[in-house]
Amino acid sequence: MSLYSDEAVVLRTHKLGEADRIVTLLTREHGKVRAVAKGVRRTRSRFGARLEPFMMTDVQLYEGRNLDTVTQAETLAPYGERLVADYPRYTAGTAMLETAERLTEEREPAVQQFLLLVGGLRTLAAGEHEASLVLDAYLLRSLSVAGWAPSFVDCSRCGAPGPHRAFAVASGGAVCPSCRPGGSVAPAPETFELLAALLAGDWAVADASDVRHRREGSGLVSAYLQWHLERGVRAMRLVERA
Ligand SMILES: [Zn+2]
Repeated sequence: MSLYSDEAVVLRTHKLGEADRIVTLLTREHGKVRAVAKGVRRTRSRFGARLEPFMMTDVQLYEGRNLDTVTQAETLAPYGERLVADYPRYTAGTAMLETAERLTEEREPAVQQFLLLVGGLRTLAAGEHEASLVLDAYLLRSLSVAGWAPSFVDCSRCGAPGPHRAFAVASGGAVCPSCRPGGSVAPAPETFELLAALLAGDWAVADASDVRHRREGSGLVSAYLQWHLERGVRAMRLVERA
């Protein structure tokens, strides 16, 4: 048994027995970790609200055979407190946590996924950009890090320089006229521009986008996410789209 410390975002919690809880964490150095937090459901728990979903904490854990045990937790950023008060932000954040959980493996370091999630939650909590834009930017980037980078300009099949008119979820984004499969859609050119801006982190373009294109872009991002994640992301059903 060894003791280790790490930074972590709480992805999920569930009850264990009378007073304990199992917390699923995405850590900076150790990937996804499932750990027992003993006595966390008692009113006078020494952990307080530090092990609630969305919280970014400095944790100390004892390594166990199956589950680790949380021995200390200090809050680094209380994103949960800011998100629970705002329903659109809360549901967007919930979809981010679930996606992060699905895209990472237990005890396999995924520092880029960790940094993307922390950046996404920070942006969401700051409230400077619309929640659905923050969510879509996060989903596009986390899928890219997972190896499924979409293309919104050049053809995602043959690489022919874009912009193109058609979008095919199964092909990975924009498709040229010769690669265009049946069932592809033809979004507005502005929607392609918005999605490219969200992937690149160009907030000036994203914030100036029209609500019609945001809605169309969100639909394509959701379809792309569901295509790559078997069973889909349950929390996406709760997300209120503009
Ligand atoms: Zn092509």
